[in-house]
Amino acid sequence: MTNTLPDVPSASAFFFDFDGTLVAIAPRPELVTVEPEVREVLEALSTQYGGAVAIVTGRPLDAVDGFLTPIKLATAAEHGSVRRDSTGSLHFDEGNAQAVEAAYMALAPLVEEHPGLILERKRSSLSLHYRQRPDLAASCEAAVRDVVAENPSLVILPGKMVFELKPEGVDKGEAVRAILKEAPFKGRTPIFIGDDVTDEHAFEVVNALGGLSIKIDEGDTIANYRTDRKGLFEWLFRLVTHS
Ligand SMILES: [Mg+2]
Repeated sequence: MTNTLPDVPSASAFFFDFDGTLVAIAPRPELVTVEPEVREVLEALSTQYGGAVAIVTGRPLDAVDGFLTPIKLATAAEHGSVRRDSTGSLHFDEGNAQAVEAAYMALAPLVEEHPGLILERKRSSLSLHYRQRPDLAASCEAAVRDVVAENPSLVILPGKMVFELKPEGVDKGEAVRAILKEAPFKGRTPIFIGDDVTDEHAFEVVNALGGLSIKIDEGDTIANYRTDRKGLFEWLFRLVTHS
């Protein structure tokens, strides 16, 4: 692990987590602010690296597009359950919708009962946020465990003050693999930047491919570099201005 971020090959592909990486985490997911530098640097990277810039997030696709508008990048949303490739085509499995619906119905009463909990429903996954109710972490965990016991096609993905339920076999590492099979990403050295435990799957894939894995802020990680958001943006701007 080192803290000085290196130069990268000109044939690199960039993969960014969204919350806690491109934007600072907010008390409620809809309250994040996208600083102007974020769009600026994503556009510059995309120009310099042949369009090989992707977002890989637990968020729904529409939410990411809304935050980054007018930029529309290749995006793996909902941890890769829903993916838009660089041509704009969507890839997702409708078969997961039923289990997600059942999980949503099962968790709704808990959220109604406890103000501050947020149940975020997506196309083929959902998130139970307890950032405003850390006292309820154990109750939330018990509830999602019950739901998964009833719906074994779903798995729990713990994040920062959130439990996500997503289809088994879907994770950010698989999303990176899928994106790397296609132009303009194919054949490039992958660079993944993320801040949360869910990003470790992607770090693993990128490390195995000889790429660069960058962990933002604290926490155990298998990433080979660590920095904070300030260090990340300084590095990115250095990459796009020293060309
Ligand atoms: Mg994150």
